[in-house]
Amino acid sequence: ARRLSSLEGFSAPDAALEQVVTPAEAAVGLLQRAYEIGDIEGRSLVDLGSGTGVLSLGAALLGAGPVVGVESDEGAVAVARRNAAALGADVTFVLGDVSSYHVPADTVVMNPPFGAQRRHADRPFWDAALDLARVRVYAFALASSRTFIARRAVARRVRVESTEPVPWELPRTFPHHRKPRVEIPVDLWVLAPAGTNDAPRSRN
Ligand code: SAH
Repeated sequence: ARRLSSLEGFSAPDAALEQVVTPAEAAVGLLQRAYEIGDIEGRSLVDLGSGTGVLSLGAALLGAGPVVGVESDEGAVAVARRNAAALGADVTFVLGDVSSYHVPADTVVMNPPFGAQRRHADRPFWDAALDLARVRVYAFALASSRTFIARRAVARRVRVESTEPVPWELPRTFPHHRKPRVEIPVDLWVLAPAGTNDAPRSRN
């Protein structure tokens, strides 16, 4: 958490892209969960909408590999690459839209746009995540997205393993934010695509 909270943030956060860095504590919560289940160490991992790299860099520090971050904003990719160099973490940051990225991975992590600024901005992320994950998806979403995500999961025969509210304090980031910080209702989701093999993998 200490190393992740020392990282460089968005230089000019874009409200339309909902460029908000995952709070270090929430990022660590997601990574710890995935680590305990066995979805980090030695697993290939993709971070959709990787921003400044908090989730993918944290996963790499915990032993995931290969790790790829997909991000459509050039400035954010540049920051993420600097953060990787500062941490000495091995992550490949790919500049592009999540809808045009098609390389599967064991584990998908994401803190996508919540769709609060641009309606449905989160949808291509959920579609990509459920397409790409071989084993599990770990993702944050607004509590108001529960019905949408549950429907997608049912339609895609994806098992929802857990949906848990997590503490999430949003510091003032955009001009339309009035208060210095607000608590927003965010869930951490853990989903497993059909056909997931739950048995621990043998290590070579
Ligand atoms: N995952 C990072 C950033 C979260 S903010 C973190 O946890 O801190 C959401 C990110 O998604 C932003 O960096 C934004 O630029 C990116 N983004 C938004 N729409 C995108 C799209 N269609 N394809 C790829 N990245 C996108």
